[in-house]
Amino acid sequence: MKRLSGIYFHIPFCRKRCLYCDFFSTEISDPNIKNRYGESLLAEFEQRFNELDGTETVSVYFGGGSPSSMPQAFFRSFSRTAESLGLDLSKLEVTVEVNPADTDREWIANLKNCGVNRLSVGIQAFDDAVLTEMGRRTTKADILRGLPVFAGYFDNISFDFIYGIGKNRNIYNEFSKLFDICDPKHISAYQYTRPGRTGAPKLLDDDETAAQEELIRDFLQERGFERYEISNFAKKGFESRHNLLYWSYGSWLGIGAGAASFIAETGLHSRYADDVKAFIGREGLSIYQPSGSELAEEYLMMGLRKSTGISINDFNELFKNDQKSVFSTKTFENLLCNGFLKKTDDGERLLCTEKGSRYLNYVLLELFKELK
Ligand code: SF4
Repeated sequence: MKRLSGIYFHIPFCRKRCLYCDFFSTEISDPNIKNRYGESLLAEFEQRFNELDGTETVSVYFGGGSPSSMPQAFFRSFSRTAESLGLDLSKLEVTVEVNPADTDREWIANLKNCGVNRLSVGIQAFDDAVLTEMGRRTTKADILRGLPVFAGYFDNISFDFIYGIGKNRNIYNEFSKLFDICDPKHISAYQYTRPGRTGAPKLLDDDETAAQEELIRDFLQERGFERYEISNFAKKGFESRHNLLYWSYGSWLGIGAGAASFIAETGLHSRYADDVKAFIGREGLSIYQPSGSELAEEYLMMGLRKSTGISINDFNELFKNDQKSVFSTKTFENLLCNGFLKKTDDGERLLCTEKGSRYLNYVLLELFKELK
């Protein structure tokens, strides 16, 4: 079976930077720079697409930053370029991240005509006080106006949500009201963990954060969503094909300033500098070959996030030269006995228990010690 692959385009432009955000983006608004950036994205796509030779491409993802700040013409050029490279977009998952504050019917309709079939909507909160604390320019009124427009054109909609910010916040109420307006098929609910920037929101205490997480989990499970990864829930058949590549050792080509790539066949990583000007000049790409044990760490770190965990046979086969089977060590036995990890009945797959998912960093550090 062919390995699966995807393409990620990074659009590093935001009208206003949010206070909690770690992603690379700038507040550049000059349309000329955006046009030139878009041209470089597609030129790099054409030049580097052959790095995915021998794989089956299943997804394209436009993330940011704010892809909704790009002109319509960019997406038309993308669809022509994809076609010229032999990609049939109708068979792929093609996602664009959109901000509800950028609700322009014509712009959304254009996406549909360019082969996009999935929207990932940056909601983050449905409470103006919390949105203000996050430093979002989006308001509750923007979300109320934007969601029906998005739902008018797309069935496959995902919401991005952040918890762990906003004291005494009524998360249940936020979710109920959002679901009254729109019927998402997928939810990414991320825990806020890194208040690193000046003016960033404060972290809530552990108990309040855990209570918010439980409310989200229960709300979604009652409505038929399955938690298929620590931070991701989906209705059956709507799991993100793109994100599954990251968690299942697939290959992806990341294009744009600050974007990273991984080619599973060779284990090669590459990354563009966080520099829009350098990217426009088609410069700033660095390549890195991790060691076998670093790749084994990545495999465990990503795979154990999934509810289906990892295949023990695949792991042993892939990394047979880089480790002395971590799964026959005392450390591993302890993690099993103490209820952090479990195996499937046939012994083929290894996954985290609920406790293991909560303490995933500890589990990983224990396993990594055995990979050295
Ligand atoms: S809009 Fe998105 S990418 Fe831009 S600063 Fe806010 S969270 Fe970060």
